[in-house]
Amino acid sequence: MIKDNLEFVERKICEACEKAGRDRSEVTLIAVSKTKPVSDIRQAMDCGIRVFGENKVQEIRDKHEAITENVDWHMIGHLQANKVKYLPGIVCMIHSVDNEKLALEIEKQFAKANIVADVLIEVNMAGEDTKFGLAPDDTIEFVKAISSLEHIRIRGLMTIAPYTDDPESNRVYFKGLRELKDKINAEGIQGVKMDTLSMGMTGDYQVAIEEGATFVRVGTGIFGERDYSNIK
Ligand SMILES: *Cc1c(COP(=O)(O)O)cnc(C)c1O
Repeated sequence: MIKDNLEFVERKICEACEKAGRDRSEVTLIAVSKTKPVSDIRQAMDCGIRVFGENKVQEIRDKHEAITENVDWHMIGHLQANKVKYLPGIVCMIHSVDNEKLALEIEKQFAKANIVADVLIEVNMAGEDTKFGLAPDDTIEFVKAISSLEHIRIRGLMTIAPYTDDPESNRVYFKGLRELKDKINAEGIQGVKMDTLSMGMTGDYQVAIEEGATFVRVGTGIFGERDYSNIK
């Protein structure tokens, strides 16, 4: 089933790239394996997937320990500063930086490990109360404020668009995130050259690709519905 789902998603990614005149190699599929067992991850690995997204630090640590093969783990969920210490050497990118306290803790912990953290700034494009992320208007100031931290490389922006049955309704947010990235690059902030847009999930990744996504984060579309009943 995971194999069939991956074939379907791959076809849809190719279609969207074609429609947008983009090369398939510009888009990386992150298989969002949160709540799913290692056996599911192994099935995806058997199909060639090597990039996984998780939203809980403990779950990344457990899965990182269980899977010794070389895979990329992306921290895509809200991150508390007190958990950052577990991430150096485990995650290849943090998608959810949205406050200075967190950025300073990433700087501190990754400096200790002598690693530069690749991070994305999370932006709440639709202004939803229920979501984390900076307001678009606050993003440039925030990037400036953390741009001099030596163990943080700001690679780009991430957004979680509203849940919707109509992916077209999210196009405005994806387009807005791309324009915000271009605006930040045009500022010429020292050390900041954004090349990454993490946007698009199961319901809307094709539209996100058409608007410039370089990472799409697909969970349900690959692994099926999530069961939260036995999760703390
Ligand atoms: C769970 C999650 C996803 C995947 O969502 P699906 O709708 O299952 O594809 C993507 N991004 C983030 C930040 C998530 O937490």
